[in-house]
Amino acid sequence: MEIYGILGHPVSHSLSPTIHNDGFASKGLGKTYHAFDVPVHGLETFMSCVRSLPVHGLSVTIPHKEAILPFMDSLTPAARDIGAVNTVIRTRDNHLVGDNTDVTGFLAPLAGQGIKPETALVLGAGGAARAVIYGLGQLGTTVFVSCRTMATGVKLARAMNATFVPWDDRSSIRAQLLVNTTPLGMHGPLQAASPWPFSLVGYRICYDLVYTPRMTPFLQQARSENLRIISGLDMFIHQAAAQFHLWTGQPLSIPRAAVLAASRLF
Ligand code: NAP
Repeated sequence: MEIYGILGHPVSHSLSPTIHNDGFASKGLGKTYHAFDVPVHGLETFMSCVRSLPVHGLSVTIPHKEAILPFMDSLTPAARDIGAVNTVIRTRDNHLVGDNTDVTGFLAPLAGQGIKPETALVLGAGGAARAVIYGLGQLGTTVFVSCRTMATGVKLARAMNATFVPWDDRSSIRAQLLVNTTPLGMHGPLQAASPWPFSLVGYRICYDLVYTPRMTPFLQQARSENLRIISGLDMFIHQAAAQFHLWTGQPLSIPRAAVLAASRLF
């Protein structure tokens, strides 16, 4: 049986096994999907096991999205330009190809709502921000990026044709789309926090990559100020659907995956 799985640490609460196993079963595919909880120091050993076992695909999450690059035989242009892999595909000739479906996942909900922003302000400058800025680049959007660590933000902005804005000045930028790629609002110690303790007057759409919980303080504020909102859960499901298609050549039912994921969230 073909083995697939999510590689990360921690991964015990991941929605991916539920979504992919349901997709495999509903299409009668002889494939199974597992959670592989691998700490940073275990990556090399894990990847040598992958080579010798019938592992045909991986989803990759924190903390391995960048560390896994040297273990790939090749990268897609998106993974190379973003500098991060969230999907591994094993080809028929046993090559491990690193791809990044976070871009597709991020863009799909925008396309679904017919949104093509002219300007965007991206909050945070980590791996997810790179995928977001790469995707916005494909739409021709003018991108501003803001984060607390100036050196990181300046470097990212230079590399990806964006403009850096110091964290304390972020409310001085007016953009059609505001995207949160920080963990602020995520379940845990940061759940009550928002990356935007300011008015949202002048903005049109708020997109939060955080999806646990589905309604973050950032999205709650946007809704109360009558802005359009996009939840990180939409992105998550679309990036999973893109992985499923890469591995099986078949579409994953988005509505079915959304219901399954929602039943696991609060
Ligand atoms: P990351 O590489 O660790 O980057 C996080 C960014 O947030 C960094 O720029 C960090 O930089 C900033 N940050 C961290 N703590 C902060 C705080 N307390 N206040 C302000 N800024 C803070 O993480 P990532 O991989 O980009 O993921 C970021 C978020 O996106 C996570 O919540 C993740 O779950 C989510 N995500 C969602 C999807 C999806 O499908 N919906 C996909 C990928 C990621 P500074 O410390 O310099 O500010």
